[in-house]
Amino acid sequence: MESALQERETRLQEARILGVRVHRVRMAEALRAIEQLIQRREPSLVITADANAILIALEDAEFHQLMETAPLVTADGAGLTWAGKRLGQPFPERVSGVDLVEQLTRLSHEKGYRLYFLGAAPGVAERAARNLLRKYPNAQIVGVQHGYFPPTDEPAIVTQIAAARPDVLLVGMGMPRQEKWAWRHRTALGVPVMIGVGGSFDVYGGVVKRAPRWMQQLGYEWLWRLLQDPRKIKKVRNLPRFVWQIWRAK
Ligand code: UDP
Repeated sequence: MESALQERETRLQEARILGVRVHRVRMAEALRAIEQLIQRREPSLVITADANAILIALEDAEFHQLMETAPLVTADGAGLTWAGKRLGQPFPERVSGVDLVEQLTRLSHEKGYRLYFLGAAPGVAERAARNLLRKYPNAQIVGVQHGYFPPTDEPAIVTQIAAARPDVLLVGMGMPRQEKWAWRHRTALGVPVMIGVGGSFDVYGGVVKRAPRWMQQLGYEWLWRLLQDPRKIKKVRNLPRFVWQIWRAK
């Protein structure tokens, strides 16, 4: 059984973007992989990577190592899907943190998986949970905690999450902090699947609006986000550096 699971997991195709590993998966495959990880019950990290994640990995050895060993790294964002195509390793579909949050809530509604929402400003993840529950009333959201706690509260928060016994911990505290935090506490948390979901709770909590679908499909969601939150300029400023490196890499 164990080896059959592992065999299926290792079949995920990989792309190498500037040497950094990202899986070439569709949403349906990503969800299947996550369900297998839930069944395996060993703390595992899932990373939703955008172009910025690749740049972070190139400068941050700890984060690079997490991307190298995570059983699932999905491609989130137009910059990365463009890079995959350009490097001859196209991603079949964008698998974003925002979409994963909704799909996992749907699966929870259907199959009873226990979800925990950690991150975003006070009140936002609660609102996100309430809004998602309206659409998926049987989803098991077993706990919610905002992401602006002082380090002294960490042990209590870890204990609180562990006590709620989630199958999946969705961590929206920004990259790479959310991934490092989850991985550092994996043993005490004892949660089978930990997923970094960035600003997803802001989307479902009504803090930011998602771009219209046509804009998402044309790959301009970043522009929409930038117009809503000019602080994101830092990320967008990094994009030309990413494009330049991909251009040279070919
Ligand atoms: N955030 C948090 N704690 C912090 C800093 C940020 O919970 O100390 C949240 C923030 O409110 C937002 C998310 O982390 O909901 C980061 O969103 P962003 O879209 O910037 O994520 P990234 O794409 O950087 O992962």
